[in-house]
Amino acid sequence: MARYRTRTWLRENVPVLGRFFPPGQRNCGSHEWFRADEETDRCWHCTVGVRPHQPVPIDPDNSVWQELNKSAAAGDDVSRRMVLQLMAEHEAYEALMALEMRTKATDLDLDVPHLEEQAATASAASRSLMEAARRPTA
Ligand SMILES: [Zn+2]
Repeated sequence: MARYRTRTWLRENVPVLGRFFPPGQRNCGSHEWFRADEETDRCWHCTVGVRPHQPVPIDPDNSVWQELNKSAAAGDDVSRRMVLQLMAEHEAYEALMALEMRTKATDLDLDVPHLEEQAATASAASRSLMEAARRPTA
């Protein structure tokens, strides 16, 4: 029962979302996620889509996002709060990505001496090949 609590609450409190919560348990085939609670993401479209929570970026083309924005702009307070929550999720996602980028940059920095060594070797090989090419053949 707890499984459907969030969906039911959303359907009842955010009327614009009603059509994103079809009855039944058929897999929608293209899950779009929302954060149902601290640990869980659920699909807007079906009850099959459940996964451990991970922050997701806002997709401006996402129909749910567009409907929520319209509804929020029209003064619906629940939609406005959901928009803010999605924006917070987006910020969390950006922070996570920034962290990963820094980690990658650090990894690259660690590789720089090795890459320089490879480049120097390639350069030396290139020089010696050019010198060999200039040398008259015996
Ligand atoms: Zn789905």
